[in-house]
Amino acid sequence: MRHIAIVGSGPAGYYTAEAALKQWGDGVRIDIFDTLPVPFGLIRTGVAPDHQSIKGVSRRYEATALTENVRFVGNVMIGRDVTISELQNLYDAVILATGAPNDRKLGLPGENLANVFGSAAFVGWYNGHPDFADLDPALSHDTAVVIGNGNVALDVVRILAKSNDEFEGSDIVAHALSALDASRIRKIVILGRRGPHQIAMTPKELGELAHLTRACPHVDASDLPDEADDAVLDPGQRKSVGHLRAFASANFCAEQEVVIEFDFFAAPRAILGKDRVEEVEVERTRLDNGKAVGTGETYRIPAGLVIACIGYQTSKIPDVPYDEHSGHFSNEEGRIRPGLYCVGWARRGPTGTIGTNRPDGFAVIEKVATDIGDGASKAGRPGFDALANERGVQYVKFTDWQKIDKAEIANAREGAPREKFVHVDQMIEAATRG
Ligand code: NAP
Repeated sequence: MRHIAIVGSGPAGYYTAEAALKQWGDGVRIDIFDTLPVPFGLIRTGVAPDHQSIKGVSRRYEATALTENVRFVGNVMIGRDVTISELQNLYDAVILATGAPNDRKLGLPGENLANVFGSAAFVGWYNGHPDFADLDPALSHDTAVVIGNGNVALDVVRILAKSNDEFEGSDIVAHALSALDASRIRKIVILGRRGPHQIAMTPKELGELAHLTRACPHVDASDLPDEADDAVLDPGQRKSVGHLRAFASANFCAEQEVVIEFDFFAAPRAILGKDRVEEVEVERTRLDNGKAVGTGETYRIPAGLVIACIGYQTSKIPDVPYDEHSGHFSNEEGRIRPGLYCVGWARRGPTGTIGTNRPDGFAVIEKVATDIGDGASKAGRPGFDALANERGVQYVKFTDWQKIDKAEIANAREGAPREKFVHVDQMIEAATRG
């Protein structure tokens, strides 16, 4: 028998569990740990609330979760409730699938001013992550600046730009819906430090901006390279740049309530303000061998909200080697040290789609299989239960999550799939009550 602990119940965690079941069938017991009492990580608290079809993948994880050999162990924080070395003593392999939940820092003066957020915090706020449910961003100024040219920037812009009606069918949490309803933001500037050919936005997501009811995207045509130059792009990039070209030629922004302005070749240099953000100082850039270099020309954008969507970092865990430069655990193709592995964003950084984590999960299980053979008679589940009991750690099981899930669905406003609990004690209460 092999005993496997997976830390993190997001896509990487569940795909890894799926791979372990394929590898060993009844010859494995898998415990999936999570800090929160609710599973599915990024699917619940990262994927945009108006992208419900992407969230549908959680049904696949549920099928894995309901397998007898897999167990959800929620509301347990590794490093606080149990250490990594204790887990390693109990399980043949410990696989860290903890994602990259922390914002990378801009490293600019003024980034700690009020109403300057990273996307992890802002996305967590509208998705009801307990750590950010009380963020309370002020949406009272007419201009917001969103930094970064990736898909997370697009999510944030779209959420800021949508009217209340456009959230029908989404699971955006009530506190965000009512704050956005009262929002005075009428201009959203997306700062890209490089140009249209360098965006990391995918075509489907970028194209969505053209279908918003009260907002329209606008690109300055002079920022676009000659159309013939698009030939060097791969088909996806070409399609994305095609959308930008359409945004440059569309002439309907004057009639729309909210304008989404793409500002390319624009690197933020400072966030200015007394207590909270009032302006963003930007330096015009040019490309030098694909890199953005400052031209010395600067300007200021008056703004009351700044959201930096510039990537994420993995949280550190005591006693686990960490690569500061890359922002994830130090590893060799998933191996950290004997018996300790990482997978997904915790292994490779925040890149790729949800599905990219599936081959990642299968690859790490191949390595685990080579390393642990038939297993080493570790205590596994009963050993963890004894430790949890001794420490008074009350973990949340998958059946408890099913009660929370049921209560959230029952609490849904009309047209919404659920109303999420946004505080851990509410979740625990629903699990106990259900
Ligand atoms: P990303 O794709 O890496 O984009 C980050 C952006 O931030 C880049 O445009 C980057 O510009 C810019 N940036 C980085 N540091 C900066 C700085 N100091 N100043 C100004 N700009 C800076 O990251 P992401 O948007 O967080 O997305 C993470 C992953 O999740 C991606 O793989 C993404 O596709 C995926 N995702 C997918 C979906 C979806 O499919 N619907 C939704 C959300 C996220 P440079 O290129 O110049 O470095």
